[in-house]
Amino acid sequence: MKVAFYSTKAYDRESFDRFLPDSGHSLSYFEAKLDIHTVSLAEGHQAICSFVNDHIDAAIVKKMNQLGIRLIALRCAGYNQIDLHASAEHDIKIVRVPAYSPEAVAEHAMALILTLARKTHKAYNRVRDNNFSIEGLTGFNIHGKTIGVIGTGAIGRAFCRIVKGFGCTIVAHDLVEDDKMKELGVKYLPLDEVFAKSHIISLHCPLTPDTHHLINASTIAEMQDGVALINTSRGALIETKAVINALKNKKIGYLGIDVYEQEENIFFKNLSEEIMQDEQIARLMTFPNVLVTGHQAFLTKEALEQISQTTLDNLSAFEKGEKLINEVKAS
Ligand code: NAD
Repeated sequence: MKVAFYSTKAYDRESFDRFLPDSGHSLSYFEAKLDIHTVSLAEGHQAICSFVNDHIDAAIVKKMNQLGIRLIALRCAGYNQIDLHASAEHDIKIVRVPAYSPEAVAEHAMALILTLARKTHKAYNRVRDNNFSIEGLTGFNIHGKTIGVIGTGAIGRAFCRIVKGFGCTIVAHDLVEDDKMKELGVKYLPLDEVFAKSHIISLHCPLTPDTHHLINASTIAEMQDGVALINTSRGALIETKAVINALKNKKIGYLGIDVYEQEENIFFKNLSEEIMQDEQIARLMTFPNVLVTGHQAFLTKEALEQISQTTLDNLSAFEKGEKLINEVKAS
């Protein structure tokens, strides 16, 4: 099948090219993001392959339909960026990669916590400058803390297994409680109790209308003073303005984010020679207790292999008219 591949990075190409010869598919790699101006690049292809910040709204779906696109193969797990109803209306199927090394994202969440807790990012810069003073590097133990996990799906479960090893108490909230997690010792509680009890809160639920701005001024008020907040899920789970206020008044003690509400215009680009126009991310960078990574939690060798293989398998299943086990449908 001929596939128009959007938002291509060198690591995508390297990983997909390894598995491509056996797949029988042909990929046209475009560096451009998918939008209303670039969708026409997909002419002559039967499918498109897109990533998290390729927003596919009704107008783009309509254009895809005119171009003869029959399948959208997401090379990511989240699908909040797609108008599912518009796709269904034009009978364009959507497939995704539901789980690609959930451990990759869970381990990154732990990396954010450990970095914030032990200030290794500051220590790294200090010693490279022959500054071996440890003043100001006092951290905190993870052991013995209560960790709140919002969403115990594939990534949340992997995260719970990690923090269990650190000797933490784990409280969680999910719409569906997981028996294996209960056996591990995870205690499911209503959301407000998770907020109230946790020293560290890690978000692992998808972005939906229900979870949009889950972290806002009133939910932050329910949390412990000095709470550490970690988000590797989707930026808009957090109302950035409310979090900035809470950092200023020290209600939030630490913030570690791999995703950002307005990341679409910033992340995955080298803007080092440009003037930052986004006031909120610029403000976040001024706090010494904030750590931002640019949506890289998924980026491990193992996860990239799984993404490539599952995406190519999804394309093959569609081409052969087989059942689409990774299909996403409007509810
Ligand atoms: P998953 O579908 O396996 O699990 C999501 C869990 O969230 C489910 O158990 C679901 O019941 C729960 N949930 C849904 N609505 C909820 C709510 N209102 N409150 C509490 N829990 C709720 O998904 P996953 O593979 O664990 O991924 C979680 C999210 O991580 C994805 O939606 C995606 O946005 C994000 N993600 C980020 C990266 C990254 O690189 N930063 C990579 C992959 C996934």
